[in-house]
Amino acid sequence: MLIDSHAHLEMPEFKKDLEAVIQRAKESGVEYIFTVGTEKKDWKKALEIANSHPSIYAILGVHPHNAKEIDDGTYPILKELCRGGKVKAFGEIGLDFFRNLSPRDIQLKRFQEQIGLAKELKLPIVVHDREAHQETMEILKSEKAEECGGIIHCFSGNYEMAKVCIEMGFYISIPGSITFKNAEGFREIVKKIPLESLLVETDAPFLTPEPFRGKRNEPSYVRYTAQKVAEIKKVSLEKLADVTTKNALRVYKLL
Ligand SMILES: [Zn+2]
Ligand SMILES: [Zn+2]
Repeated sequence: MLIDSHAHLEMPEFKKDLEAVIQRAKESGVEYIFTVGTEKKDWKKALEIANSHPSIYAILGVHPHNAKEIDDGTYPILKELCRGGKVKAFGEIGLDFFRNLSPRDIQLKRFQEQIGLAKELKLPIVVHDREAHQETMEILKSEKAEECGGIIHCFSGNYEMAKVCIEMGFYISIPGSITFKNAEGFREIVKKIPLESLLVETDAPFLTPEPFRGKRNEPSYVRYTAQKVAEIKKVSLEKLADVTTKNALRVYKLL
């Protein structure tokens, strides 16, 4: 049994064949999928998908790309939607200094605020950090994010960063890019991260693992990422699946 700890099933890429995608995930041993609604227009859709599938849960929040769209009405709506039992985490929230689709000062402010919101809702957070490691760590510390814990998704930091995150009660989630030819440095870092702190994810429809790189990603492909992580950690796929599944169930409070 595997878990895709992070996908975006509500995105338009899945509009035509969502049920087939979910079926294929089941057939390849993916027991649960956590679908992440990253902006206002996607929250209800993500929740709808979760509510109509026993094997799917939702994660809601405002992505750093959309931080500039937050207004007075945003948080009340989010709070209301997050109270449903199918929402298991708050996110993805954080900083994206690679694409900078929202101004950096607004990203920083909204990241801080949303950590507070997650604590109020008693939900773990899912953190998106792209090219903003130092600022992400500063905010996690200053906002006492260890009080809610959560996941650093699509982890791209170094081992030192992983270590501090783990000490703060966070899990480190590994995406399909671990299978890429040029990811040798990333594999060296994952080798050192304890199995007990690892999760696997697709971030579908993005970051498709080999051998499907270039095509649309989907939750059934989390198996290829898990296989690669198992190789790196020198354990069987069964063992890797077992431990990462327990880790995911623990962080999402389903265990
Ligand atoms: Zn992300
Ligand atoms: Zn994502």
